[in-house]
Amino acid sequence: MKKWDATAIGEVLIDFTPAGAGAQGNPAYEANPGGAPANVLAALAKWGRKTAFIGKVGDDTFGASLRRTLENCGIDVRGLAVSGEARTTLAFVHLAPDGDRSFTFYRQPGADMLLTEAEVPAELAEGSRVFHFGSVSMTHEPSRSATLAAAARAREAGALVSYDPNLRERLWGSLDEAREWIRRGLRLAHALKLSEEELVFLTGETDLRSGTERLFREFGTRLIVVTLGPNGCYFRLGEADGRVEGYPVKAVDTTGAGDSFWAGLLFGLLGHLDAGGTLDTLTEEDVRRMAAFANAAGALTTTAPGAIPALPELEKVRELAGE
Ligand code: ADP
Repeated sequence: MKKWDATAIGEVLIDFTPAGAGAQGNPAYEANPGGAPANVLAALAKWGRKTAFIGKVGDDTFGASLRRTLENCGIDVRGLAVSGEARTTLAFVHLAPDGDRSFTFYRQPGADMLLTEAEVPAELAEGSRVFHFGSVSMTHEPSRSATLAAAARAREAGALVSYDPNLRERLWGSLDEAREWIRRGLRLAHALKLSEEELVFLTGETDLRSGTERLFREFGTRLIVVTLGPNGCYFRLGEADGRVEGYPVKAVDTTGAGDSFWAGLLFGLLGHLDAGGTLDTLTEEDVRRMAAFANAAGALTTTAPGAIPALPELEKVRELAGE
C-alpha cells in the first residue's frame, strides 16, 4: 500500500508581484509563494488528499516561509531539502498590459535548482500513487537529473506519472535544449498536461487532434489534456478524443488556474484508482467527468488573486461541475 496519494518534485520560490506604488513612488511588491508542482499539491491537499513535496530552499527566512506555507497547506515537507550554500529562489514578476506575466530571477540558479538525486528520499519517490513533475526543475543541473531520476523511480515502483512541461522558454539555454529534455520527460509520463503553445512547440502541429495523436504514437502517453483557457480543454485517451467546455466566470487573475485545473484532473484519477481502476480501465466518460471537475477548479481559481490563496473549496468545485 502506498503511503501518499500524490508526490510532486520541482521548483519552489517566492515571487514578488508589483502591488502599486510604495514609498517615494518606488514600486511596491507583494511576496507570494510560487512553484507549479507545489500549487498542484496544495489543491489536492485542500481537497483531502495526502501529499508530499520534494524540492530545495535556502537556509534563509524565505525558505522558512515557504516551508511554513507548504505545511499550512497540509503538505508533507520531509522531502524539502535545505541548501548550505545557495539562497531560496526569488523572482520578480513583470505584468504586461494584457495581464501576461514574465519573470526576472534574482541570482539564478537558486537553491531549488541545486536539488541532487541523493537528496530525494526513496520513500517519497516510491511511496506515492501519483507522481507529478514539471520541466522548470529540468532547466538546470543537478535538479534536472534529480527530477528525471525520481520520476523514473516512481514509474518503476508503479506510480501513475503525471507531467506538465510548463515551458518557460527563457529559463532554457536554447529551445533545442528545451525540446530535447522535455521529450525525455515525455517518455516517463502516463498523463500529460499541455497548453496549445506547448503542443505546437513539441509537435509543430496546430491541430489538436493530429498533434496529440502524434505524441500518443511516439510516446504512448495514455492521457493527454490540452488546456484552452476560458474554452475548457481538449483530451486524448488513446484513440479516443474530445472537448469539454469550460465554465464562464468573472476572471480577475489567471495565476494558478492551470495548476488547479491539473490538480482537478489528478483528483479524478485518484478517485478512479480508489475504486480499483487503472489507467487501462479509464473510459472516455470517466475523462469527461474528470475534465469537467478540472475546468470548474481552474475557472474558480481565476476569480480570486494569487495561486494558493485562490484555490477553491471542494464543495464549490463540485457544485460548479454539477456533481
Ligand atoms: P495554463 O495555460 O496554465 O494551462 P489556462 O489559462 O489554459 O492555463 O487555464 C487552465 C484551465 O483553467 C482552463 O483549461 C480552464 O478550465 C480554466 N480557465 C482558465 N481561464 C479561464 C477563464 N477565463 N474562464 C473560465 N475558465 C478558465
